[in-house]
Amino acid sequence: MDANPNIVTFLTERAVTEPELPAIKLGETVLSYRALDDVSARFATILTEHGVRPGDRVALIMPNLPYFPITYYAMLRLGAIVVPMNPLLKAGEIAFAWTDAEVRVAVVFTLFADEATKAATSTGTDVIVVTPGELDALLARTQPSPEVAVRDAEDTAVILYTSGTTGQPKGAELTHHNLGSNVRTTLETLLPMAPGDVVFGGLPLFHSFGQTVGLNSAIAGGACLTLLPRFDGEQALQIVQDDKVTVFLGVPTMYMGLLAVKDPARFDTSTLRIAASGGASLPVEVLRGVEQTFGFKLIEGYGLSETSPVASFNHPDRDSKPGSIGTPIRGVEFGLRDENDREVGEGEIGEIVIRGENVMKGYWNRPDATAEVMRGGWFHTGDLATRDADGYYFIVDRKKDMIIRNGFNVYPREVEEVLYTHPEVAEAAVVGVPDPQHGEEIAALVTLRDGATVTEDALRDWVKDRIAAYKYPRIVKFGALPKGPTGKILKREIRL
Ligand code: AMP
Repeated sequence: MDANPNIVTFLTERAVTEPELPAIKLGETVLSYRALDDVSARFATILTEHGVRPGDRVALIMPNLPYFPITYYAMLRLGAIVVPMNPLLKAGEIAFAWTDAEVRVAVVFTLFADEATKAATSTGTDVIVVTPGELDALLARTQPSPEVAVRDAEDTAVILYTSGTTGQPKGAELTHHNLGSNVRTTLETLLPMAPGDVVFGGLPLFHSFGQTVGLNSAIAGGACLTLLPRFDGEQALQIVQDDKVTVFLGVPTMYMGLLAVKDPARFDTSTLRIAASGGASLPVEVLRGVEQTFGFKLIEGYGLSETSPVASFNHPDRDSKPGSIGTPIRGVEFGLRDENDREVGEGEIGEIVIRGENVMKGYWNRPDATAEVMRGGWFHTGDLATRDADGYYFIVDRKKDMIIRNGFNVYPREVEEVLYTHPEVAEAAVVGVPDPQHGEEIAALVTLRDGATVTEDALRDWVKDRIAAYKYPRIVKFGALPKGPTGKILKREIRL
């Protein structure tokens, strides 16, 4: 018989073979593989007492604390489906997901209990509040349930709420096979992690990037994940130095955060072997800046919640191309499609479609939305890209972020890349704003580096000199960029 595909076996097997290895670290707290396995087995008993059975959806609202892996693996151990959620959601948003996924039990960190409790008044969900100290005492007197529920490869392990390419949040159902294969491919072909490796855990674990490439890959590889609950560039470098981090994972704004740290040479980052970026376009200037400042190799990958998430990568054994998302990973195929779902030619812009073992089962309880994105057996991403002669993909932009000015298509990313080459620009986002004369006008919101002297007009002219006339931003404003929990820039919240 095949081994149990339940992804919690990444933890339970290592806990038997190498129990003393460190698995999770936060400050002075270190959980070995044996300890993580034992505490999660105790928490599984508590969940069983709350009536959790295989296949039940159990919500998890938890920041990057050791309680995240403890409770997450407890749920998986029972064969329950984990619904990890952003701790910053408000009661209405929580209630929406809990109703949609029919969540009966939720595990919530005390700091976020108010909104969850409010949500529960309408959904009737049983909320287990995690209060440090109290929970630790309860766990100490609870017997562990070490059994691991046998799952089929096609059983759902996790439901991740995402707004997908359009509209209301939908629950992407990821199976044990989706996640297990994405973890194995990450470890075997992209980012090897092994006992002795220390992985930076600053990406939120409720999001697919942090969960698959951070938590599950580190645990499957036998590495130690060192957690940072709220990202801060200086603290991140301190952790890299103190914990001798070997693998760094981040979204582009985190790398911008590292570059913004004053006098970064104070920190010893020499243990870093490799760093990966994903989740949003990594501006080429940022990639170069990080490699020059810190001396480690930074490679870019691409994916979505719906693809577990890793779909393409600049593979370490091939040339990496700055500005590219690399080539499809093992077991995954890409296509590029026009409006009529026909394949486009080399160098032409098309929508990325994906097929392979990482593609979700579908959106929970949404057959129509699933059929729409899975047309012809390919998952339609909503991301526009080109492919070069070597088979590398270059993201142009998201379909819905494209600006149409005077009938010309303008891709914000191209304009942002030019803005990032200005030495005083720290962060930039380009959006379209409605305009009666041109349909849309091109506008840039820019955060400058400390001590910068450039004016809004001067920056606009600077871009104008370097890009076709129909593309430069007519409006340039300075200010802070709105960001989501993973650090992604929220373009739809920009008002100019
Ligand atoms: P999420 O489901 O939150 O992981 O968001 C997925 C979206 O992030 C994709 O559809 C892309 O638009 C974007 N994304 C992820 N990785 C990259 C990348 N390397 N370059 C550009 N966009 C990316």
